Formats: sequence, structure tokens, C-alpha cells
Amino acid sequence: MARRIEKTEDEWKHELTPEKYRVLRKKGTELPFSGKLLGNRKDGIYVCAGCGNELFSSATKFDSGCGWPSFSAPLADDSVERKEDRSMFTVRTEVLCEKCGGHLGHVFEDGPQPTGLRFCINSVSLEFEERDERRGAGKKDGKSN
Ligand code: FE
Repeated sequence: MARRIEKTEDEWKHELTPEKYRVLRKKGTELPFSGKLLGNRKDGIYVCAGCGNELFSSATKFDSGCGWPSFSAPLADDSVERKEDRSMFTVRTEVLCEKCGGHLGHVFEDGPQPTGLRFCINSVSLEFEERDERRGAGKKDGKSN
């Protein structure tokens, strides 16, 4: 599974804010209920804050109460990569951007039907692009985080 975007740690460090670098490249976690996109209810697409890859749609976003933006499915099967994560004395499934390998969060099997999945994603790993689905027009929502 070859990544389409490969950068050195120095390049990432220069491009990303310290918090984005800590989460995306060092698998950090933002504080719960701190993310700017947690309560976002607008229609649009959530893209990777590291590379712009389209990851999730507002159509699958739901309020899980867990403190991080939650989605019941990725935008496409190949938007994200899932990987076993045995850190923190437990076994979880890590979610990464398929394009740049950036750490997004984890996926749990306690989400709403029909998928039953909860993609628990750091707000800092995402940028939001507001879109009017009816017209298919794209509009940048400025800088988040
Ligand atoms: Fe990415």
C-alpha cells in the first residue's frame, strides 16, 4: 500500500502547526471537547489537515458524546487506513489518512446502524470544506484550528 505523499519529519514539522504535528505525525490526541469541529453542523467534507485528502462527509457525522468529532463511515473505502494499535495497554484500531499516513484517531464498534462504527477523529487532524451538496459547489471554510 504505497503512500502518495511522503515527506521527511523536518518537512512535516515546518508545514504543520506544533499541535497538528503532534497529533498527525506523533499519534497524539487532542483534549476531549476541545476541537473546533466537534460541534460543526454544516454540510460539507472533512479533509486531512496534513494533505487535503477527502476523508469524511458531514452526512455521516453524529454526536457520540465522546468529545471528539465522530463519523459512522469514511467518505470512501480507500479514504482511510485501519491499523491495529496495541498502545495504552489495550487493543484498538487506529485510523490513518490513506494518502499521507497521518494519524486521525481510532474506530470503535459502538456506532449507529447501519455501519455500527464510530470513527473517533481528532478535530486538529481535519479541515472542513463547506459544500452545498445540491449544487455540488465547493467553498473553503477558511482556516480551522
Ligand atoms: Fe493526509
